[in-house]
Amino acid sequence: MAIATNKGLSLAREIYADRSKRVRELRRDGKKIVGYICLYPPVEIITALGLVPFRIFGDMSEPITAADRVSTTMVCPFVRSILDLGLKGKFDFLDGVVGAHTCDIGAGIILQWRDAIKDAPFTHLLDVPHTDHAPAVDYFEGQINSFKRHIEELAGEKLTDDKLKKACEMHNEQRKLVRQLYDLRKPDPPLLSSAENLEVMVALSSLPVEEGNSLLEDIIQEVTERKVKPSPKKVRLLVWGPVFDNTALYDLIESADAHVVVDDTCVGTRAFWADVKPPYNLHALAQHYLVDIKCPRTYRQAEPFETRRDYDKDLDSRFNYIKKAIVDWGVNGVVLQSVKYCDTHGYEVPNLRHYLDTLGIPSIYIEHDYSERSMAPIKTRVEAFVETLG
Ligand code: SF4
Repeated sequence: MAIATNKGLSLAREIYADRSKRVRELRRDGKKIVGYICLYPPVEIITALGLVPFRIFGDMSEPITAADRVSTTMVCPFVRSILDLGLKGKFDFLDGVVGAHTCDIGAGIILQWRDAIKDAPFTHLLDVPHTDHAPAVDYFEGQINSFKRHIEELAGEKLTDDKLKKACEMHNEQRKLVRQLYDLRKPDPPLLSSAENLEVMVALSSLPVEEGNSLLEDIIQEVTERKVKPSPKKVRLLVWGPVFDNTALYDLIESADAHVVVDDTCVGTRAFWADVKPPYNLHALAQHYLVDIKCPRTYRQAEPFETRRDYDKDLDSRFNYIKKAIVDWGVNGVVLQSVKYCDTHGYEVPNLRHYLDTLGIPSIYIEHDYSERSMAPIKTRVEAFVETLG
C-alpha cells in the first residue's frame, strides 16, 4: 500500500505529525512491528528478520496521567511519558517492545511494560555494559545473541549471515544519507532549518529502513535544488543532550535569531556518525553499539584500566568528536539540554562545560521536564545566551 501522495520534506512533516500511520498500514498488510526504546537495540537484527523497527518516543504535548498509577514522579519524564502512552493504548500497533539498560530507569520501563501493559506480547531487555573495553564488548555480543534467539521466535524464522549483511548495508546506507543531510547545514545560512531536520529524523525512526532511505534521497535532492532557503541568523549553535523529539526547542532557538546547525542528541546524529563495520556479524554489532555510539551512558577512559588517570586526556577522549563537529559546522555556542532526573546526562554536564571552556566555546545548560509547557521559561534564557554571542 502506498504511504501518501506527499514526497520529500512534506512527507517527512506528515509522518512527524502522525508517526504510527505508516506502520499501522504495514501491520494491516501482515508485517510485525517491533518498538524499541533508546539507541541500543540493534535495529539491523529486527530488519534482517523481516520485522519493522519503530523507535518509541513519548509525547511532549500529552499530560502524564495514567503513568502515575505505576511509577513515581521522581524519575525521567521521557520514560514516564512512554509508559503513560502505553497504558493509554497508544502503542496498540506494536507486536513487541525491546529496551536496553541505558540507565536504571530506562531499563525499568521494559519490566513495567511487561507487568502493566498487556498489548505487547513480546518484550526483551538487553543488558548493556557501561564501559567500552574489549571484555565489555564480548559480554554485549552475548546479550545481542540472546536477543537474536528470542526475536527469531517472534519472526518465525532464523537469522542468516546473508540477511544480517543485507540489513547492515541498508542501515549503513541510511547512516551515510543522514550524514549527507547534515552536510546541508554546513553553509551559512544552512540549506535546511533545524526544525525541518528534526522532522526528517523523527520520520526516519517511524519507517522501514528502505522507505527511510528513499525519503532521504528525495529530501537531499529537494533541499539542494529549492530556491527558498532559511534566512541568515546571528549565531550557529550545537544542541547536545538526550532525547528531544519535538520541534518546540528548535523553533524557540530559531526565533531567538540562531540556527541549530548540528547536534549531539539521541534523535539526531548519535546513531548515524559511524557505520557498522564488515564482516557484519554479532561482534561487529556489539562493537558498533557499545564503542562507536557516543552516549554518556557508556563511560570512556583515554587509557582503559589505568589507575593514574589524566583528566584532560580523558575529557578529550570522551568529547573530541564534539570538538570536530564544532569546527566542521562553524559553531559559535553550545546548548546543553537534558530532561529532569537524567543523571546519565546530568553528570556529564560539568565535565563537558569544562571541556568547551578550554575550547573557548560558550555554553548554556537548560533542563526541562519533557513537556511543551516547559519550553516557555527556557525561551528567555536562550534569547539572553544568543544575545551574548551575537
Ligand atoms: S533520558 Fe536519561 S534518564 Fe531518561 S532514559 Fe534516557 S538516559 Fe535514562
